[in-house]
Amino acid sequence: MDSYNSMSLNAIEKFIDVLFNQRKSFGALNEAFTLVADDFNIGRVIGDIDDNAKSNELLLLAENRVIYMSDRGFDPKNSISFDFMTISEAGGRTIVSPVPEHKFNDEEKEIIRVLLQLTDIHISRYFALTQIEESAMKQRMTDLPNAAGFMRYVHRKIDNKTISDYDSYYFNLTGFGLISKRYGNKEGDAIMIRYAEQLKSFIKPGEVVGHLGGDNYVALIEKGDRSDKFQELISGITVKAHDADNNTEPIKISCLAGYMHISPSANSDSIISGPGMALAYAKLNKIPFVELTDEIIEQANRTKTVELNFEKALENNEFVVFYQPKVNTVSGDIIGAEALARWYENGRLVSPGGFIPHLERAGKVNKLDLFVLETVCQDIKAWKDKGRKAVPCSVNFSRKDLKNPELPEKIMGIIDQYGISKDEIIIEVTETSSEEEKEMMMRFLNKLKDFGIESSIDDFGTGYSSLSALREYPIGEIKIDRSFINKELNENDEVIIKSVIDMAEKLHIDVITEGVEFVSQKEFLHKLGCDRVQGFLYDQPLPKNKFEERLLKGNYPNVEE
Ligand code: C2E
Ligand code: MG
Ligand code: MG
Repeated sequence: MDSYNSMSLNAIEKFIDVLFNQRKSFGALNEAFTLVADDFNIGRVIGDIDDNAKSNELLLLAENRVIYMSDRGFDPKNSISFDFMTISEAGGRTIVSPVPEHKFNDEEKEIIRVLLQLTDIHISRYFALTQIEESAMKQRMTDLPNAAGFMRYVHRKIDNKTISDYDSYYFNLTGFGLISKRYGNKEGDAIMIRYAEQLKSFIKPGEVVGHLGGDNYVALIEKGDRSDKFQELISGITVKAHDADNNTEPIKISCLAGYMHISPSANSDSIISGPGMALAYAKLNKIPFVELTDEIIEQANRTKTVELNFEKALENNEFVVFYQPKVNTVSGDIIGAEALARWYENGRLVSPGGFIPHLERAGKVNKLDLFVLETVCQDIKAWKDKGRKAVPCSVNFSRKDLKNPELPEKIMGIIDQYGISKDEIIIEVTETSSEEEKEMMMRFLNKLKDFGIESSIDDFGTGYSSLSALREYPIGEIKIDRSFINKELNENDEVIIKSVIDMAEKLHIDVITEGVEFVSQKEFLHKLGCDRVQGFLYDQPLPKNKFEERLLKGNYPNVEE
């Protein structure tokens, strides 16, 4: 009897060791029972869980899942069972049957009960750990996989080589902030959950939608038809919303989305970052669905490079200002100039197209624009100090600059700092494309006007608010875009340009046309009443020293074809 006891103690100890060392393994139970089964004549162990259990528990224990089975077989007649409760309060039991033709004696029964208590602890602990792990993989509110959970799916699909069956999406809901504001945060959350439910019900096995938090989602959707249908779905999902008086109304939630066709060699990072890049492009260009292309990748990489190198380049004086003369076509006089930024990047001269849009995207263009303004003020001051002639210079400010409410004060500060006259600087901005921008633009231009600084609408005619701009904006100049004169013009075009020029004149707004390359264009403009031009016909944008030479001459002899 004694020897039996020490042997059994030894076996139980091993049993505990196995379960303790493999807390996160359900399979450890099999290993543990294998160690003790022969000693106690155990033929089979099964786990059984009640139907009302949570799904992940059901998966593990439903339908009498076999935990251990002896080579010798088992006899179900003399089984012992042990009831347990899981952490999600589902009831279940483990059932132990002896090997054939054996009946457990009292001592065996007692020991088996101890083993089953230990089994119960192991199962509960296992469920608790998996639940914690699962919850770390899920977005708390919508219960969808979060970034980590989504990436687990991605890695699995890469491992089993099915990843290229899918398109990968990154989408951002449009105006969800406003929805939360309108219905309150609590109902906002409920709306988000209803939205997520509709995504879930679209998904079929193998596909996955993840919620990164906030109003950002990712998805893997089968290529082809399914992907088309998914785009159709997320382009506008209607969900119910309850207002403060508990009235229910349907609201439509749309999104901007980037997506990419996943290639078999795609690495896991690109599954989120690829469509993320396309989404950034979608946001910038206000296009609802954008597929990732090589061009977008190149652009995003260029933005990164520019963003990374900009400040150092500025410090190293790699940015310089070129000047393009503005000319009176009748007298040939230089009546002004436009300052245009250039970047000597690694010794190569880069035009604004290679950095301005990227600086805008990176939120850094303001710094460059102020640098250009300061350089221009410095140059004008130097010209005057040397007793030379100076002309008013236009400086471009990006529409992205307008977000900065202190910008007019900054501009004024720089002009004052160099002690030049306010009418020697003209601030150029392009037309706006949205109501929100229009308001910012109004504030900006009004403040400049209060300070006595003239402003000009650049690329006039390319936006859609041109005529109202003439009427509403306190501007001193419009600059007609070159697209108006570099194409075949029909009579209607002529009438439009002529009336814009006439209207501007009546409103005491100067008109200048840019991009004039041919004498014929100059003459055409003269006929319509515009004698102020800027263009290659006279000069390209010139480096400062060349422009200074031009200024000294001060006049262009009559240019003929
Ligand atoms: P923009 O302000 O409309 O400037 C006129 C552009 O047209 C300049 O291009 C100029 O070189 C070009 N141009 C002038 N005459 C002709 C012509 O006869 N034919 C043709 N084909 N082109 C002509 P650039 O210097 O490449 O600048 C492009 C744009 O970059 C500018 O358009 C402006 O929007 C922006 N930009 C330039 N410098 C700055 C800056 O310092 N700050 C900001 N925010 N934008 C700038
Ligand atoms: Mg300009
Ligand atoms: Mg322009």
